[in-house]
Amino acid sequence: MPDPMTPITNGQEYIESLRNRGLVVYLFGQRVAEPVDHPIIRPSINAVAETYDLAAADPDLATAVSPYTGTRVNRFLHVATSANDLVMQNRMQRRLGQLTGTCFQRCVGMDAFNALHSVTHEIDARHGTPYHRRLIEFLTQVQRMNLVVGGAMTDVKGDRSRAPHEQADPDMYLRIVRRSDAGVWVTGAKAHQTGCLNSHWLVVMPTIRLGPKDRDYAIVGAIPVDAPGLTYVYGRQSCDTRSAEPDDLDQGNARFAGQEALIMFDDVFIPAERIFMDGEVEFAAMLVERFTCYHRRSYVCKTGVGDVLIGAAAAIAEANGIATASHVRDKLVEMTYLNETVFGTGMAASQLATPTASGAVLPDDMLANVCKHHVTSVPYVLGRLAQDLAGGLVVTLPSARDFAHPEVGPKLRKYLQGNPAVSTEDRVRLLRLIENMTMGRNAVGYLTESMHGAGSPQAQRIQIERGADLDHKKSLARKLAGIERGKE
Ligand code: SF4
Ligand code: FE
Repeated sequence: MPDPMTPITNGQEYIESLRNRGLVVYLFGQRVAEPVDHPIIRPSINAVAETYDLAAADPDLATAVSPYTGTRVNRFLHVATSANDLVMQNRMQRRLGQLTGTCFQRCVGMDAFNALHSVTHEIDARHGTPYHRRLIEFLTQVQRMNLVVGGAMTDVKGDRSRAPHEQADPDMYLRIVRRSDAGVWVTGAKAHQTGCLNSHWLVVMPTIRLGPKDRDYAIVGAIPVDAPGLTYVYGRQSCDTRSAEPDDLDQGNARFAGQEALIMFDDVFIPAERIFMDGEVEFAAMLVERFTCYHRRSYVCKTGVGDVLIGAAAAIAEANGIATASHVRDKLVEMTYLNETVFGTGMAASQLATPTASGAVLPDDMLANVCKHHVTSVPYVLGRLAQDLAGGLVVTLPSARDFAHPEVGPKLRKYLQGNPAVSTEDRVRLLRLIENMTMGRNAVGYLTESMHGAGSPQAQRIQIERGADLDHKKSLARKLAGIERGKE
């Protein structure tokens, strides 16, 4: 953990803050000695570091004044109390997508704080609990130190047809296994944990609507990432071992990547002062719905990544010597129009915010779901068009080692030259970037995370159906059809 007296002020200090924590991390069946120096893990750390450097470079975009510290804090730690706050989150997310070309991992914690702000307030109003005060104290502390907080929601879930308490193995959802006056101990596992190793704290939350028999599963609390009993198993990603290659040519995006890991909790302690829900099962669904409402319009992040892919597609068309062909320009228009459609729905969700009792504002649920639902398909269409414009070379290119070979290298540079204004190496770099984003490491963030992150497509369709208000729409139709005369 960083020195508790020294706030983190830039990306480099953030990277240093992650050292020497003794985390139990497994990757390729081996314990990782120091994640910060691991070539496969480091690009994901670099991506989070950008959230610090952007705050320093553009404080209007990436910081906000906290009512709790009275100072500017990183926007990822700020609770939105106006529509403009939410809009600025989206603008910051698009910018970071542009800067990293991948998932920068810090939004889950931001969206968790925002959702918990109102939910803890409402639990306290009903039960007289101290959760909101505790949350604000915790938030103030992490704002002062400028820490990364990961939100840990998705349980492994076991048999999807059964509630948590009905599972054959009770650990399929994170649960309280024992308690004392000092706090509680939890056991279970959370899957697909974005940026968890790169965080300083984890906030665990239930992932599903809970019933009265699921009381031990209704736990929200903050845990240091290096707490005893936590084991992390790093997710294997497509082409990840290219990060260990000495030459960066084959990597496409050598500096940045996302991070997903499975976290196993074995009797992990949460002190009472860090517990923000304990047994109030009737609020679990509210928390999940509010969190997903924030998080589904956070997927505007993918429009920043889309900007990079559109740029790569335009640049490879130039390198191939086809930039002015009308079908090429039309494909770039199609990519842009789709990307901006995602942005439009996310921004509209933020713009149409409504206040909650705690003072935090909530995005429009329908538009947040429509935004995320677009994201489950639009990046795939953009990926297809980028591969179309790239040409077959995107999957048949020789490796960096062949280009470096004294005999075959010069011949490859001759035969793989396209537009003479673009060097063969630059053409190869663009192709590798498109490969990276559409089938390599960052396809995890750009494509499959777009599909399943913040809920798989069906989860949004359920919310869209709930909000569709078909009775109202049928009434509109009936009136104009002359069926409901005189009714308003
Ligand atoms: Fe943020 Fe997007 Fe990554 Fe989620 S997928 S953490 S919204 S960058
Ligand atoms: Fe995500």
